[in-house]
Amino acid sequence: MLVSKTPNPLVIPDRAPRIRNDEIDLIAEILRDVPDPEIPAVSVVDLGIVRDIRADSVAITPTYTGCPATIAIEQSIRHALDAAGFAHVRIETTLSPPWSTDWISDDGREKLRAYGIAPPPRGSGSSSLKNETPAECPRCGSTQTEEISRFGSTPCKALWRCRACAEPFDRFKCH
Ligand SMILES: [Zn+2]
Repeated sequence: MLVSKTPNPLVIPDRAPRIRNDEIDLIAEILRDVPDPEIPAVSVVDLGIVRDIRADSVAITPTYTGCPATIAIEQSIRHALDAAGFAHVRIETTLSPPWSTDWISDDGREKLRAYGIAPPPRGSGSSSLKNETPAECPRCGSTQTEEISRFGSTPCKALWRCRACAEPFDRFKCH
């Protein structure tokens, strides 16, 4: 098939900046609707995976290097962009600085809690590599909790139990 060499009529120099801003807003809106493959209750924007949005590229930082969800996250974003007519927008993976649980938005933290996953405490990503602070039970809010296993339903979460209501729950590992 022959590809037309005609320049895109939308790219008029004096109007280009406005169009680009509109496009960035549209891309941001699309990404806000892309769920995390492992925790569909939160979007890739809520988790802080999306670092930068431009008219022709999106920068993402995967939550955990080696996490099987990493490929799924990129595929979900690719699919959403393609479906909305943004097939020309590249996805770039940025590994530095590494993703931190501090990047999870307040909205994202609330959604995690509502979903039954204890969000990591704010600041834990930079101050400590370990889960020294007790997790707050997402069901009853008690901090009388204990870690049962470093590995919860996925390698990215730890399994905890609440001593107050005896319910087990997943907790996001702090990075
Ligand atoms: Zn509880």
